[in-house]
Amino acid sequence: MKTYQYFCDGQWRDPSSGLWFESDNPTRGAPWARIPRCNAEDVEAAVQAAHRCFSTGAWSRTNAAGRGRLLRRMGDVVVRHAEQLGAIETTDNGKRRSDIVEPLKTWLADSFYYYAGLADKVEGAVIPVDAPDLLNYTRREPYGVCACITAWNSPLLIAIWKMAPALAAGNTLVLKPSEHASASTLALMEVLAEADLPPGLVNVVTGFGPEAGAALVDHPLVRLLSFTGGFTGGSHVAAAAGRQAKPVIMELGGKSPQIVFRDADLELAVHGVASGIFPPSGQSCISGSRAIVHRSLYDQFVRSLCEVAGRARLGDPADPMTQVPPIANRSHFDRVLQAIETAKKEGAHCVLGGVPTHLPELGGWFIGPTVFTNVTPQMQIMREEIFGPVIAVLPFDDDEEAIRLANDTDYGLAAGLWTADTARAIGFADRIQAGTVYINNYYNATTQSPVGGFKRSGYGRENGLEGMLAYLQTKSIWVSTAPHQPNPFP
Ligand code: NAD
Repeated sequence: MKTYQYFCDGQWRDPSSGLWFESDNPTRGAPWARIPRCNAEDVEAAVQAAHRCFSTGAWSRTNAAGRGRLLRRMGDVVVRHAEQLGAIETTDNGKRRSDIVEPLKTWLADSFYYYAGLADKVEGAVIPVDAPDLLNYTRREPYGVCACITAWNSPLLIAIWKMAPALAAGNTLVLKPSEHASASTLALMEVLAEADLPPGLVNVVTGFGPEAGAALVDHPLVRLLSFTGGFTGGSHVAAAAGRQAKPVIMELGGKSPQIVFRDADLELAVHGVASGIFPPSGQSCISGSRAIVHRSLYDQFVRSLCEVAGRARLGDPADPMTQVPPIANRSHFDRVLQAIETAKKEGAHCVLGGVPTHLPELGGWFIGPTVFTNVTPQMQIMREEIFGPVIAVLPFDDDEEAIRLANDTDYGLAAGLWTADTARAIGFADRIQAGTVYINNYYNATTQSPVGGFKRSGYGRENGLEGMLAYLQTKSIWVSTAPHQPNPFP
């Protein structure tokens, strides 16, 4: 078993509690690493280190062009070590190796390069104020120490989406990965030593949400929070942040609809809907877990979806031939099975999967693609995020009903529209309550385009210019050009 330390002020440290907890390899269903259980004392050390680096340390003397140079080095390191980092993430959370190694080499490394380029291009403005003898201009300034709290399904992706814009903007960071998958974030810090980060610039504390996470959220020197996780954790964090009036970027879950219109290319739609949920075993925030299909296509759609998904190969996520990986941890595996049982009890018909898949040569936590029909909008399977390979398919009769069903959710992260009539789809896209709408495609994301949620899926945006502005606050500066200040009490 590998034993990790946590990363603080440029050094590797044992947790002050002297306690570690085990991280499981979901493919084997067995522990493989020991992760430090950090507490408030470790958080204090990490936040103080980040604060020193920001206020008096090397970062306070690094200008925007210098920040860009550092970010480019970080991108190069990530490309060089993509295989090694990907292997660790695959072991730790069961993500398919191909779903992390290629992105690290390409569009996740691009996050560093994109924000490196942007670092010295965020300008203030001279405002034409309606006042004589006054010059008014604005600057965009970093907040200081930012806390970035991440989820277990894509620890490296989420960490990089936060780290690159936050650093480009001039902040320092304390990262807290999920207790279910901390190893790849710690491994990232190991390899980033090659990029020559100043001590305290990025610190990683590991441990549990209510312990290390809560201490971080409550720390008065933490000026901004960026959270990716579920609604329950997110609302706790938002409430705690609210008590100290801290800004928060919230990236939460979803129950995303996939609408298949009457004129859709059926094969395209079936493949798009299947690939919008099953390849990560449904463990993606934007998984399209509700298919809303025109009644004229419904039976054929369900048959084809079951055929396509039923052929998917479950297996070792390190094997390039594997199409569906395991569920990332035991407690989540149990939760997904529980949600499947509830759907059955509520009267939904399970027409594919719905039971654990036993792979004796591996022994881990697998559930095959699962399809439900005979669902109603009130069922739990239609309302709650399951975050597993489970899709509910329901029919609609006219376009208004389709839009109503699509929007009938507390969430608003993403939606897919499948139709031959792109012009009409653009009109529908305006009416969908979601942060991202895909027309005849799904799952695409690149560094340049902002992502985020509507409704209970969160607020704030990551990626793109907006993703960096979120880590900057505007200061307005007034300069008098008048020779005299008027007497206030003539
Ligand atoms: P979670 O909310 O249980 O945990 C997320 C992180 O928050 C973890 O690091 C956890 O330790 C921490 N945390 C939990 N409670 C806390 C508290 N009270 N104070 C401080 N920190 C706390 O979520 P999860 O199960 O790790 O992740 C799955 C969820 O993440 C799903 O809902 C998924 O949709 C969502 N997600 C969203 C996006 C997005 O970009 N919108 C991306 C990936 C995952």
